[in-house]
Amino acid sequence: MRIRVLGAAAGGGFPQWNCGCPNCRKARAGSPEVVASTQECVALSADGARWFLLNASPEIRSQIESFPPLHPRQPRHSPIAGIVLTNGDLDHSLGLLSLRESQPLVVYATDAVRRGFTEGNVLYRTLERFPGQVTWKNFDSGFCQAIPAPGKPPVHLEGRAASDPGENVGLLIHDRATKKRLAYCCAGGGITPAMRAAIDRADCVFFDGTFWSSDELIALGLGTKRAEDMAHIPVGGAGGSLEALKNTKAKRKIYIHINNTNPLLDRGSPEHRQAEAAGWEIAHDGMEFSL
Ligand SMILES: [Zn+2]
Ligand SMILES: [Zn+2]
Repeated sequence: MRIRVLGAAAGGGFPQWNCGCPNCRKARAGSPEVVASTQECVALSADGARWFLLNASPEIRSQIESFPPLHPRQPRHSPIAGIVLTNGDLDHSLGLLSLRESQPLVVYATDAVRRGFTEGNVLYRTLERFPGQVTWKNFDSGFCQAIPAPGKPPVHLEGRAASDPGENVGLLIHDRATKKRLAYCCAGGGITPAMRAAIDRADCVFFDGTFWSSDELIALGLGTKRAEDMAHIPVGGAGGSLEALKNTKAKRKIYIHINNTNPLLDRGSPEHRQAEAAGWEIAHDGMEFSL
């Protein structure tokens, strides 16, 4: 399985257009200690010919252009065989609307995520221009296993959609040829026993690196919500994912979906060194490897 990180940042990207936090200022100043990144999306392929995208970020067009294996091989063609949505937040799904150029799409999502994107959304009509433009598939079709992860409805659906165990999922992807497993948990307010079991079975795990600390946005004066209020377990501190996954059996551990405020993004920070010392890698745009 070939794996390419097209985007490593959480919603807003890095730097974020309206953010003047220390990391974003450093990125704009061209500091060698930080690297700008687009919003989270990972491409993977078992055969190098057919590719799947994990999530559809608002930056999907430039992300596809950044990676030649995703370019068309005929006048009208795409090697993208499917797109998997792990939740309905706009940083994970808005890119679907940018793929409206009459190309049939296959989208894997839970019923809750599909409904949240398609119902009452007049813009979705751009993906209904002809029968079969989008084929929605549930996870029981076998491509990968979805594991409910503690989440919440997307901000734009708060107060409209009831909470649903399918609103946010992690993935366990099995390459039958190499017998390798990838666990993909880019967002989660905690680690359930099922998530932990999937991570422990994996050869590689991508995990939620949104925030280093619970009060990261509050301490920077950027917001009032704690990480947990936004369904993200912080990386650092007591009860954080570094501690919780200390003894995981996953051989390779990578933080992804990293918010622009997270000190993990600064290679010179003690937090970055602490994560690396614990065996974690920090995803960046263009990171590529095989499993
Ligand atoms: Zn997100
Ligand atoms: Zn920022």
